[in-house]
Parts: sequence; structure tokens; C-alpha cells
Amino acid sequence: MNRGTAALRPGEQSVLLALQSLGTASRRQLSLVTGLPRTTLTAAVSGLLERGLLAEDEDTGPRTGAGRPATVLHIALANRTVAVVEFGHHAQATTLVSYDGRVLGRADLPARAERSMSAVTTGITENIRRMTATPPDSMVVALGMPVLSDGRGLRHARPHELGGPSPAVPLPAWIRADPVPALEAVFMTPLQVANDANLAALGEAEHGAARGARAAVFLRVLGGYGAGIVINGRLFSGAGGVAGELAHVSVREDGALCACGGRGCLATTARGHLDHPGDLMAFFDEAVGMHDVLGRAGHDPRAQRYLTDIGRTLAEPLASFLTLLNPDTLVVDADLGPGAAFVISGLHAALRRRVTPPAFQALRIVRGELARHAIAVGGSVLARQRYVDALVSPQRRLGPGESGADRRHDQPRVGVTDVRTGQVQRRKRPVRSVD
Ligand SMILES: [Zn+2]
Repeated sequence: MNRGTAALRPGEQSVLLALQSLGTASRRQLSLVTGLPRTTLTAAVSGLLERGLLAEDEDTGPRTGAGRPATVLHIALANRTVAVVEFGHHAQATTLVSYDGRVLGRADLPARAERSMSAVTTGITENIRRMTATPPDSMVVALGMPVLSDGRGLRHARPHELGGPSPAVPLPAWIRADPVPALEAVFMTPLQVANDANLAALGEAEHGAARGARAAVFLRVLGGYGAGIVINGRLFSGAGGVAGELAHVSVREDGALCACGGRGCLATTARGHLDHPGDLMAFFDEAVGMHDVLGRAGHDPRAQRYLTDIGRTLAEPLASFLTLLNPDTLVVDADLGPGAAFVISGLHAALRRRVTPPAFQALRIVRGELARHAIAVGGSVLARQRYVDALVSPQRRLGPGESGADRRHDQPRVGVTDVRTGQVQRRKRPVRSVD
């Protein structure tokens, strides 16, 4: 019998569950953790290897004796891929990433305001086709705006609407309103939507500067202030999906109304926009952009001072939050390049004064490692977690912050477009037991 589409047996489920928390394990470790009888364990491991759900590697740890090298097992991820589509105000791109976090390709995706939904989805299809001959197993959409718990992007005013600078690239209205139905109608892979700073946090926590952190906060500076929170390897997006929205922390009780419905949000203040042309002109006495400032960070004391000030500004909304959450790692966006050191220095000085000492002493403030790939790598972590969760617990219910789109896309529908070929498929793909 072909077991490729059959449900998992209880022993197989136990092995996957153990590997979900252990990462890798030898057969002996699996036997101890699962408590399964030897014959059941052997059959479960063989069955999972046969179905391609497990992979086996040589153990690279210290050898304990002579003879055949020991092997370790892990959930097979290397051959599964996700297409991460970024709709940010400064970057739009499609990135193909394996579930184990390797970036396999990246292509720009023009998504300017005047572009229609069909032009953008055609662009995504072409991006993917250029990068792979195999359709990705899932898709993650990264939005440069808060993502509500129903998977919709929060429509709120952008800086230029509040008197600040225009975004480098205004996004089409349909992306800002609700891109899920539009994308759902076109693509046939499981789809998840998340805020881009949150994804970058997940990427850095799993594969970057916050590896091994119990509670990590990622701080995005370029392209709008934002933060992402990862606790024990899982993204925390809050009951309404807006956890980490640094730009919407109120810093002026009697400040201006913000389009999010709040008052005195950081986004409404003059200091809420690091790339405000007026501020840059006043500070540098010449027309410079943020990229010039970052380029001068190595040698121009004014640029260094400007970046240090940004760190001090961000410390204000962060300080109470860091005391209350008491994270071990604060990652500053590596997109700042050499400028990150000065932002960190400003943050460090201001947070030392304002965060309670036990929380400050436990906090590492570090520069990110993934730079422009942080969001896409985070998207692969989200896709992998969803895949493994579904493997170990097929009946798992959706948690807060997960898009309802997940469930509707668990099986491909008839008559939808293949993300690789752009061809409309009339037949369902073989039903798999996962995804
Ligand atoms: Zn606001």
C-alpha cells in the first residue's frame, strides 16, 4: 500500500513530537524520550524515513567509541520551500527559502501604487518561475503594516499623510486594504500573512543574532520604526496582532490624533520619522537622505550623532516595555549597516538610565546578522513551524494572530493558478496528509 497520503500512526506521531522539541536525536534518545517499545520505534522511524518526513545525518558530536559513526534523525525540511513575498514601502521582493532557512533566490517585485493586483500576482508568478522548477510548498506574505488577527493589514496613515516624508514606494491600495483574498484567488499554496518586522524578529531569533534567546525583541529602524517579539522561538503577535507596534506607542498624552485611532503616537511626532527631509536638512545643512547618513557613519561625526540620537529616541517607548518583558536579547536591524553601532550606542546609554538594573544587566543589545534577508528567513521559520505543527498535531486549531486563510488553503482548490507555471490547474493535486 502506498502510505504517502495515509494518516500518521501513533508511534510516528510520538517520534515527530519528540523531534519537534529536540530538533535532532539519535534512535537511542528517541527511545528514551518517547518510551516506545524498540520494535514500534524502529517501525515508526523506518515509515517516516520512507515517506520523506524524516532525514538522517551522521552525528557530528563527539564520538563515544569505535565502529560505525552514529546517526541522528530530524524532521526533513531541506527539500521544502516557501515563497516569501514582501510588500514593504522600501522593498518589494519574492524570496525563495528552504524550510531550514537557506535563501535559494530573490527577485525584485515592482509593486508601485499604480500596479494592478493582476500585474503584481503575475510578477510573483514570474519571480518564482525564474527561481525554481518546483512549486513552493507554501507562501508567506510580509506586509509593512500592522497585521490584525484576521490576517488583514491595518489601514493606517503613512508618514507622508501626517506631514512626514513620502514612502519610497507607495503600495497599491489593494495591498494596504487586504491582500489575502486577492492572493488567495490566484495562488494554490498554503498562505500566511504577517507583519514584516515580526518576521525579521523570527528570522534573527532562529537563524541570526538572537539564536538561543528565550525572549528576543527585534528593533526595526529603517522603513518605519517597529518591533517584533519572539518568546521561546515563537512569534508573539498579541491578541489583536499589533504587539510590537513601536510607532504607535503614545509618547505625548496631549499629542496629535493618529490615524490608528490613538493620540500622541511616536508616528505623529517630529521624532517619529528618522528620514524626515526637514530634520535631515536642519541637522546636516544640506539635502541628504538616510542612505547618505548611513554611508557617512564611518567617518562623519554629524552622521554618528544623528544615529546615536535615533537610538536615544527609540529608548523612550522601549524602556518600560523592556522592564516589563525582561527579554535577554534586543536585536537592532542589520539593514543599518555600519550605522547600527551608533544606534546601539544611543540605545545603550538611554536604556541604562531607564530600564530597571536587573532587566538591563540581563539584556544583550546586538546588531542583527541577516540584514535584507531577515524577513524572508523569518517567513521560512513561520512556514516551517506551521508545517511541523500540522505534522505533529493535524487537528491543531489556529492560534491568535494566525490568518484564517491558513485553513482555507490547506488543500489546493480546483481551477487555481499554479504559482510556478502560471497555468490554471483544473485538477486537484494529490491530497497529502500534511499542508
Ligand atoms: Zn498610532
